[in-house]
Amino acid sequence: SYRKGGYHAVRVGDSFAAARFISQRKLGWGQFSTVWLAYDTQTSKYVALKIQKSAPEFVQAAVHEIEILSAITENDPKNEKCVVQLVDHFKHRGPNGQHLCMVLEYLGDSILHLIRYNRYKGLDLIKVREICKCILTGLNYLHRELRIIHTDLKPENILLISTVNPSKDPIRSKTTPILERPEGSLAGGGAVNVIEKKLKQRARRAVAKIAAERRGVIGGCAPEVKPERCLDGIDFRCKIVDLGNACWADKLIAEEIQTRQYRAPEVILQSGYSFPVDMWSFACTAFELATGEMMFAPKPGPGFSEDEDHLALMMELLGKMPKKIATGGGRSKDYFDRHGDLKRIRRLKHSSISRLLVDKFKFPETDAREFAEFLNPILDLDPEKRPTAQQCLQHPWLRQTAAKTVAGKSNLVG
Ligand code: ATP
Ligand code: MG
Ligand code: MG
Repeated sequence: SYRKGGYHAVRVGDSFAAARFISQRKLGWGQFSTVWLAYDTQTSKYVALKIQKSAPEFVQAAVHEIEILSAITENDPKNEKCVVQLVDHFKHRGPNGQHLCMVLEYLGDSILHLIRYNRYKGLDLIKVREICKCILTGLNYLHRELRIIHTDLKPENILLISTVNPSKDPIRSKTTPILERPEGSLAGGGAVNVIEKKLKQRARRAVAKIAAERRGVIGGCAPEVKPERCLDGIDFRCKIVDLGNACWADKLIAEEIQTRQYRAPEVILQSGYSFPVDMWSFACTAFELATGEMMFAPKPGPGFSEDEDHLALMMELLGKMPKKIATGGGRSKDYFDRHGDLKRIRRLKHSSISRLLVDKFKFPETDAREFAEFLNPILDLDPEKRPTAQQCLQHPWLRQTAAKTVAGKSNLVG
């Protein structure tokens, strides 16, 4: 992907936007971009630099993402709504073309990493609650105030907020030699070029060394940080990121949305969608946080497709598909007969969320019942019946105090 139209190759110490930003280390990547930790020499803060691939379709996607991120940032001046903010954006020309770059506030590790660090055993319910409150705050903001549907909510797209103030980091002075020279000055020839090259090399090495020392300090839960650190405190705050697939509710873009395991039934059946698709993904995410396992992991089988297995898994856990839903979508006839039963998967093994939590995940009965009471309405197969983010925020399960949870011995993890 590092070719014309693709990713821009970045090295530690590279400068961007007339040397305002200096790349420090790679934070992650996706289908559209690579994301780098960068030092902002203007504000002396760390930022995340999302450098988009350069082909026209990626540029267009970035323009859309910037539009959405701008609305999010402008309407949340206090930065308290649990959605990532856009600091700036600019173009960067490289060997593979012109790349749109988004400067985002720097966040920590994703909650998917948190689940992995915990060896897929699930986080204790105190932490799950805190994370749920943040996600719901973010969704309530996106949905009610901005009329934006995220369409790709999942653990990977929820990032923890770094707890350490990175502006105290001395990395700036070490990088000064290459920071404050105008771009293009390396193009000179002869001895100057050699000296500059050496300077640049030395600065890069210094940056790398300091970055290595600092791991575990900056970013709070950066991938290199030992998992125990992430699992200690209970002040778990996080933000929703990756608005690349988000859309305005009155201007839907794609028909097939959401990552498979977090996809709502109305999307599979193509019966139209809106905000409730995010609520569905939220419930799947909350379940995964608490158990360490995906709520639905459909697979195709002999004589049935992945979609059909997915619908079967939903019905096994949540009950019969309401007739209106089973027959009303563009793809309903492919999967359901006129009674609302699946055509090709006849025998379903009925269970319930609370039974699953007790039997498979060894939750204490009370915890299982209460968590299931929170999740079940959000997983209503009828999207119109699902509660909104605002309504979920009022749910008694989120208001439970830590004391009660501890007394109820809800810690799955030691
Ligand atoms: P996708 O294929 O998921 O759409 P993408 O190219 O749109 O990917 P993002 O998902 O936005 O890119 O970012 C890729 C990764 O970079 C994230 O999964 C995360 O690890 C990291 N990342 C993104 N934004 C930030 C941020 N603000 N702070 C820290 N890390 C970030
Ligand atoms: Mg992503
Ligand atoms: Mg994206």
